[in-house]
Amino acid sequence: MAMSVKNAREIGKMREAGRVVSRVHERIERAVVPGVTTSELDDIARQTLIEFGATSSFLGYGRAPGRRGFPGHICASVNDVIVHGIPGKRVLKEGDIITVDVGAILNGYHGDSAWTYPVGRISPEARRLLDDTEVSLYRAVAAARSGERLGAVGAAVERFAVPMGYGVIREYGGHGIGRSMHEEPHVPNHGDPTRGVLLRSGLTLAIEPMLTTGGEAWRELDDGWTVVTADGSLAAHFEHTVVVTETGGEILTERVPVAVQ
Ligand code: MG
Ligand code: MG
Repeated sequence: MAMSVKNAREIGKMREAGRVVSRVHERIERAVVPGVTTSELDDIARQTLIEFGATSSFLGYGRAPGRRGFPGHICASVNDVIVHGIPGKRVLKEGDIITVDVGAILNGYHGDSAWTYPVGRISPEARRLLDDTEVSLYRAVAAARSGERLGAVGAAVERFAVPMGYGVIREYGGHGIGRSMHEEPHVPNHGDPTRGVLLRSGLTLAIEPMLTTGGEAWRELDDGWTVVTADGSLAAHFEHTVVVTETGGEILTERVPVAVQ
C-alpha cells in the first residue's frame, strides 16, 4: 500500500476535518463531569458532527459478515480501558479518567484525535499519567520530521515513558490517515530511530501513545471491542493527526482556545 503523502489541497481538507474533531473535543471536555454517562458524551459528538456536516469515522467501523460494526460515534474508555470502549449507560464518577477518541470524516478526509480527561478531582497518580502521556505525544510529534525514520517517532515515546516506569502498549499504535482512517504506515509507540520507512514532508499520520501505570499486557473483553489492561492499572491515550514537515509534525487536530472561538 502506498504511503499517505498528501498534496497541499489534501492537507487543507484534512485540516478542516481536524478542526471538526477539535470542536467535538472542546464540547466533550466541558461535559466530562461526575454524573454524566458515556452515551451522553457520544450524543454530544453525534450532534456536533452533524452541525459541521461531518460523520463519525468510528460508527460502523469493522462491520463484516457476522460482525456488527463499532456501535458508537466515539470511543469512551474509562480507567483501565485502554482503547475501543463502547459508549453506554456507564455513569462517570469523581476520580475516574476517561479517554475519548474522536474521528471525523469531512469531504472525504479523516481527522483522528484521542484525549484522556479527568472526571472531577483525580488522584496524583492519575494526574501524572495524564500529564506524562500528553508529553510523550508531543515528543513523538516533534520527532515526526522529514528525513527521519519512522522508528524515531516510537522511540520518542518509549525513551520518555519507560524510564519513568510506565507500561507502553505495543500492539496498538498510530497509523497513516487520509481518505481512510487507517492507511500505511503503522506507527508503533516503540522502536529504533534508525529503522523504519523514511518520513517525507506531506505524510499524514495519527500519532497516539497509550501508557499505563502498570504493565504492558492487555486483553479484549467479550464484547469484541473493549481493550483493558490485564493488571487493572490505569491507561491513558493521547492522539493527534499531524502532517510531517521539515521541523516536525504539524498538528491538524489542535484545540482552538475557547476565547477565540
Ligand atoms: Mg483515534
Ligand atoms: Mg488513530
